[in-house]
Amino acid sequence: MPAIPRHAYVHVPFCRHRCGYCDFTLVAGRDDLIDRYFAAVARELQRVEHVIAPGVDSARLKNPACLQVATLSLGGGTPSHLGPTGLRRLFGLLAGRLVPDATAEVTVEANPLDVTPDLVAAFRELGVTRVSLGAQSLDAATLRVLDRDHGPDDVRRAVGLLQTAGFAVNVDLMIAAPGQMLAEVARDLDALVALAPEHVSVYCLTWEQGTAFESRRKKGLVAPVEEGLEREMFEAVIDRLEAAGFEHYEVSNFARPGHRCRHNEAYWDCRPWEAFGPGAARFDGRTRTTNHRSTLTWMNKVLAGEDATGDIDAMTDEAAARERIVVGLRRRDGLDRTTFREASGFDLDQIAGPAVARWGSVGLAEDDGSRVRLTRAGLFVSDALWADVLTG
Ligand code: SF4
Repeated sequence: MPAIPRHAYVHVPFCRHRCGYCDFTLVAGRDDLIDRYFAAVARELQRVEHVIAPGVDSARLKNPACLQVATLSLGGGTPSHLGPTGLRRLFGLLAGRLVPDATAEVTVEANPLDVTPDLVAAFRELGVTRVSLGAQSLDAATLRVLDRDHGPDDVRRAVGLLQTAGFAVNVDLMIAAPGQMLAEVARDLDALVALAPEHVSVYCLTWEQGTAFESRRKKGLVAPVEEGLEREMFEAVIDRLEAAGFEHYEVSNFARPGHRCRHNEAYWDCRPWEAFGPGAARFDGRTRTTNHRSTLTWMNKVLAGEDATGDIDAMTDEAAARERIVVGLRRRDGLDRTTFREASGFDLDQIAGPAVARWGSVGLAEDDGSRVRLTRAGLFVSDALWADVLTG
């Protein structure tokens, strides 16, 4: 029987506007749907009963059945777009079904523009411990290029309010914006380090099908940053943040000591987690079940009592073990052979030995006999390495 999840994610699909590069599950300018969304979340949360006691008649369960969680994460979309009143309503719905431990990490994603003293007060009242700010840059021109609706001063003001109130703050930074130069990334990093957040997540801009950026690229109106420059930018990120005392603990993530994101670590450990909302994916250790990506379809199906599943990825034990290798090697600590065998039931060398040896022979991985980890050179080409593992 699958283990009971200790981690939960709730997807809030509302944004003020859709940034040109974004293909996430969301609706922009549709606040008229928020009430229906709340009703659908309340309905979907009833699934918790079946998670806790699969196959048991819910009438026999202590009412209400609650899932005790070590981490709770609200992402989107933009959860802060709900404002203090909307977040109180949402947490009110969650409280009947998802109960964070006394020491739980409770993260909410926020747009810097939404961070007001009232919102910060609501975060405190609701037990939020960590706020992840979608800053992307501290340079006005880069933010305009990225189609963001906030400026650098909004980020500074938001970080200041959150830090004064005692929250752990993550800042999302994007690099490889169209036309961006290395010197601009260096200035962004200096400005970011000066803010002294506890955690930084750094992503290269990706050009997704169906986005406004991609259609402008196809028309030749805008061009991606050249690959070599993108790599130099990421090297600059690692060097600058490590020099500032951040630990580079996963390909895209940097933390001050003691501030790793515990929720993401659960994903990377392949622990089971629950998830609610449109496009949200849950995992029971073997099967990943993803809700319908269309916010409207998800809402309508849930409220009609229909199955709102969009996709089911049921893995064999070996496929789950191979995936565990990929997510494990994204972490700078790498993969410990004994821990891997105990968690997956497979021997690392049996299913990935030749690939690991090949990577080691060309300086992409280090192997001390008990632990395998990618080198910095390996990290930069990691996406190309995973096929070696996933296809066997
Ligand atoms: S605010 Fe975030 S989720 Fe919303 S459109 Fe922009 S990038 Fe996407």
